Amino acid sequence: MHITKTDYLEYTYCKKNLWLRKHKPELFVGVELSEFEKKIIEEGNIADEAARNLFPGGTLVDIVGINAVMFTQNILTTDNLTLFQGAFLSDVFFVQADIVRWNEELDGWELYEVKATNSVKRIAPHHHVNDLAFQKIVIESSGISVVKAGVVHLDSEYRKSGKTNYNELFVIEDLTEEVVGAEEVVRGQMEDIKTYLASSEEKGCECLYRGRNAQCTTFTYSNPNVPEYSVHDINRIGASKKLFFDWIDRGIYTIDEIDNPDKLDATKRAQYDAYTSGKPVIDHVAIREQLAGLVFPLQFFDYEGYSSAIPRFDGFGAYEQVPFQYSLHTLHEDGELEHREFLITEPEGDLTLPLIERMLEDFDKKGSVISWYKSYESQRNTKLAELHPEHADFLEAMNDRMFDLYDIFAKNLYVDAAFKGSASIKRVLPVLVPELTYKTLGIQKGDQAVERWEKMTNADTPQEEKDQIAKDLLEYCKLDTFAMVEIYRFLKKL
Ligand code: SF4
Repeated sequence: MHITKTDYLEYTYCKKNLWLRKHKPELFVGVELSEFEKKIIEEGNIADEAARNLFPGGTLVDIVGINAVMFTQNILTTDNLTLFQGAFLSDVFFVQADIVRWNEELDGWELYEVKATNSVKRIAPHHHVNDLAFQKIVIESSGISVVKAGVVHLDSEYRKSGKTNYNELFVIEDLTEEVVGAEEVVRGQMEDIKTYLASSEEKGCECLYRGRNAQCTTFTYSNPNVPEYSVHDINRIGASKKLFFDWIDRGIYTIDEIDNPDKLDATKRAQYDAYTSGKPVIDHVAIREQLAGLVFPLQFFDYEGYSSAIPRFDGFGAYEQVPFQYSLHTLHEDGELEHREFLITEPEGDLTLPLIERMLEDFDKKGSVISWYKSYESQRNTKLAELHPEHADFLEAMNDRMFDLYDIFAKNLYVDAAFKGSASIKRVLPVLVPELTYKTLGIQKGDQAVERWEKMTNADTPQEEKDQIAKDLLEYCKLDTFAMVEIYRFLKKL
């Protein structure tokens, strides 16, 4: 069994998870990565390839896995001075390094790891320094001296303008001293990985003492006594360690077993009350006050945005959100409901100007603009105003009129136990308006919409497929704003 760099990083996140991946891979069969996770991996690969532009003349080891080791050794004996994806094996440890380059002056090799991030990270499992230390140890154990180590990451200040300037897009940070300093700790971890993987399975796992969001898909396998809806689902319970650990130590797993509810803060208490009473907890007065502040026509509004590690569009930087679509439902005081929408299908030239121009036509200059988690929409407006100052007044006025429907749920004015401590629209909608569902749509989640838009705007995608994607995107975004209309109507009826 080989231990790769990915295994090492997995170990720093959770060693039980690594043990299960190695010894019980069947537990992970059928567990699909989300579109978001897939995109992170893909962005990493794209950034890796793009960063090679900073090291001209390098040779790519175009083999993945152990077979690349021999190939790498052969190349290193010739006079190739830069190698991409060179492979190294020492004991059971295996790495393929993004970039190694010969340094004549220092008489050794420079090692660079490409990260599709805007800065150097120093927290597990994304500890770039320890990641490099692991690679350095393996490479040096295979007889090659590493004299310099660093990270190549994206520059958050860079904004695309015409052809991508890779020297401005990337920053190279020399971390040699830190990497050398981390080696002792990493060596200890490497020994521990070998021992741990060779040991028999430990019972349970540490996530028994963590909130639901921290858990991986194997939690139920390791903790079969914990019910599907448990104290782990209480809003931000992982942050209330004393209380939470005490319950777990006393075997209190279900919410109705909690014997000290007076110790819960207001948010947790509302969830507890809703769960134990079987009825939602509703602050009628506060909801009425919030909704009374709204001004007709009510404009329910939602953007979909695209981002990428290597910026695709002028004026945008790494991971900056590019709004490519919106849906707008306008509810008039007499109950009439209108729908407007816009989707960029051919992103060419100044792609955001047509979007703003349509918004100018579609929006009423009066009335409240209602969104869900409004900071997303208002940040996009601010960015659009920066790109098109001639429309800044319109966009800033929209932000001034924006009301966040999410706040009703985030501030616990309406709490249903079935929200499981979340105020996300995907949790709230099926409880309040069960007849509205995303399940029948071609696109059901935001990360899927991003992936589909990317596909639709790819020149190689057949026209028929592009048309279907456009239809799916419009339906998806339309449901986002219609869901808000229906939630608003539900709250009004209260
Ligand atoms: S549930 Fe948590 S502790 Fe258990 S294996 Fe998964 S990540 Fe590790």
